[in-house]
Amino acid sequence: MTTEEFRFQCNTTLPERAPHVAVKGSCGCVRADGAGCFISSNVATTPGDMTERGCTYAGCRGVVGGPVQDVIQLTHGPIGCAFFSWGYRPHVADDDFHMKYTFVTDMDETNIVFGGEKKLLQSIVEAANEFPDAKGVFVYNTCSTALIGDDGRDVAKRATEMIGKPVVFFECEGFRGVSQSAGHHIGNETIFKELVGSVDPEGDFSRAINIVGDYNIKHDMRTFEPLFEELGVKILTRFTGNVRVDQLKSMHKAALNVVHCARSATYIAEMMQTKYGTPFIDVTLFGIKAIAQALRDTATFFGLEEQAERIIERELAKIEPQIEYYRQRFQGKRVFVYQGGPRAWHWIEMFRELGLETIAAATTFGHEDDYEKIFNRIQVGGLVVDNPNVPEIEEILTQIKPDVFVSGNKEKYVAYKLGVPFVNGHTYDTGPYAGFSGMVRFARDIDKAISSPIWKLLHAESRPAPESYAAAAD
Ligand code: SF4
Repeated sequence: MTTEEFRFQCNTTLPERAPHVAVKGSCGCVRADGAGCFISSNVATTPGDMTERGCTYAGCRGVVGGPVQDVIQLTHGPIGCAFFSWGYRPHVADDDFHMKYTFVTDMDETNIVFGGEKKLLQSIVEAANEFPDAKGVFVYNTCSTALIGDDGRDVAKRATEMIGKPVVFFECEGFRGVSQSAGHHIGNETIFKELVGSVDPEGDFSRAINIVGDYNIKHDMRTFEPLFEELGVKILTRFTGNVRVDQLKSMHKAALNVVHCARSATYIAEMMQTKYGTPFIDVTLFGIKAIAQALRDTATFFGLEEQAERIIERELAKIEPQIEYYRQRFQGKRVFVYQGGPRAWHWIEMFRELGLETIAAATTFGHEDDYEKIFNRIQVGGLVVDNPNVPEIEEILTQIKPDVFVSGNKEKYVAYKLGVPFVNGHTYDTGPYAGFSGMVRFARDIDKAISSPIWKLLHAESRPAPESYAAAAD
């Protein structure tokens, strides 16, 4: 099947979707490394296309700012913006204050007509008084408050003086970008400008690193941080999983940034490199070879290679028998992976290590460099889709028939209704999936999904009700 031959039936009235769909290796110019393949990405969604994308505010609040554990997370906008930004990403932390509460100015019609600055200031002060242990306030701007011209930046400045704690204002109005990806960028820039470098602690930071671009979904960090520490490095700051606001202030003291999510957090690593000269390395913390490489690259930077090899050898010995068990069970099984961005390409390699073949890969907000990596990793003939909508997902599930679908909350029930084995790789129903031990857990969950008898029962002929039910109905 070539890109020209492949057509989603659901898109007959939406030809604008065609440039967002490609089959690797079908154009004749492709090399085995995927060079030459191209897909349109990171552009505005076509009207009529029921995209699953989030808004800029969602990316800033939900992904980058939201995991900071000890600040009041305040949305300046209507209640609906707050609801959809909170409660579905399990970016846990030592203190889950940020997970327990969400705050919103709850802008109503009167506020929209007469302005919301007074209400914003009141809300910040009230929340700070109610929760005196919070170490600051993050204020996220939304569409409506931007359109009426509220000067949230000025309010934040005044509020900082009034409460004596940092009040950081994120200009992340939902309409500012084509997807949540713009919100990641704004989150990075704002934290960098407002917080990083604002304190200058004394000490020896020659072996200090920041883990950048991991959000500690269901404690992912527990799978790899002890390994980095055993290596002999100190983890100074996380950006932003399980982080405290004071740690963000001093992250410029680290000797190295270790960047996991290239899409949502390379921005801050680049800004730190420019301003403070802090080098960074790109790593992947999912998959056996990748986590081993992450440890090796970090070790090489600090001259700790021997420790790295010792740790890797020990961890491999622990998991290899289990991984081999799953490899045998996964022979011939095919996966469709759909994630927000980099996980799609992180995991193609991970599936390969487990003996699974990726037949289709998609992202919600990937950019050109994400798709380059996907084309580089997926096998020839693999289907690649940018920002798929639900009808397209349904067609992939019913026509291409993967043995397992690895995606997120929005797609979970589509898969369940269609009777397709599903693993939640976005927010994890179980997890964590990072590191060596996470790989075994991931394999276990894929195996459980594929092997579950429920899928066969789901579409079985409906059976007559048991007699006891009929009697009860009479
Ligand atoms: S698009 Fe605008 S109104 Fe909608 S959730 Fe995002 S910030 Fe709120």
